[in-house]
Amino acid sequence: MRHLLVLGGTTEGRRLAALLAEEPGVRVTSSVAGRVARPGPVTGTVRSGGFGGPEGLARWLTAHRVTAVIDATHPFAAAITRNAAQACAATGTPLLVIRRPGWTAGPGDRWLTAASLPEAAGLLHGLGRRVLLTTGRQGVAAFAGLDQLWFLIRSVDPPEPPLPPHARLLADRGPYHLDGERALLREHSIDIVVTKDSGGTATAAKLTAAREAGLPVVIVVRPPLPEGVAAVPGVASAGERLRELGLLGARRLHGGHGGHGAADTCP
Ligand code: NAP
Repeated sequence: MRHLLVLGGTTEGRRLAALLAEEPGVRVTSSVAGRVARPGPVTGTVRSGGFGGPEGLARWLTAHRVTAVIDATHPFAAAITRNAAQACAATGTPLLVIRRPGWTAGPGDRWLTAASLPEAAGLLHGLGRRVLLTTGRQGVAAFAGLDQLWFLIRSVDPPEPPLPPHARLLADRGPYHLDGERALLREHSIDIVVTKDSGGTATAAKLTAAREAGLPVVIVVRPPLPEGVAAVPGVASAGERLRELGLLGARRLHGGHGGHGAADTCP
């Protein structure tokens, strides 16, 4: 029996767990950070909470006889991806990372890229006064000093303080649809959208709505993958790679790439 560990907390993680559960001779454990109050349903065995750094993860891999790790975490969950690379290297465990493709600007988009949340905050002056902030509940502190601006902060769970002084919180979870995003921008007279480059379709409608409204979008670029780590763009290609590695039988996994973000907010 092969034991696959799926590092999840995303739609890709949930889809992969559901698909792997149907594979004969495979046992799957999904791991989530355990930060979301009401996480989405996951097929099969789930463990929750940190492992205790790369050393803790390495110990877990050995103790639970893990055959391979599939890192299906969010593109901005850089610490767990780094830990997985180190723990897998230390224990000789094969590692596959699923990285959904990032978003690309099209005609009519007014995108400004930022290397970090503080850099994104620094770009807002002069762009407008009313900001839709969708960068997740962690990291809102980077915007806390912007007392001249008003923020609509959308996240699954309440954001961690400190918050900007003029802000309204909107608890919501994707997928988001274009009509709703258009209405949100209009109703709150939003003139700037701030997002991470999460990629996927679940949270992309805000980009279309912003383009239609002629609004600037400040996009925080992704952290790089650890050096030497193999990445595939989606669940289907992960299945193919696992088959090439001899970890799955001949049956094909179904599931497109591109993926859906768990939310545009960080659990
Ligand atoms: P992170 O900064 O990369 O990780 C911080 C610490 O949280 C890790 O060192 C690890 O603790 C623990 N951790 C993270 N993901 C874990 C997992 N799947 N299973 C067990 N422990 C995990 O992660 P993050 O950005 O806070 O994201 C946490 C979770 O939310 C991830 O599962 C991610 O897929 C999901 N998520 C994140 C975002 C985002 O924007 N960052 C968006 C949507 C979903 P130890 O060192 O103790 O092992």
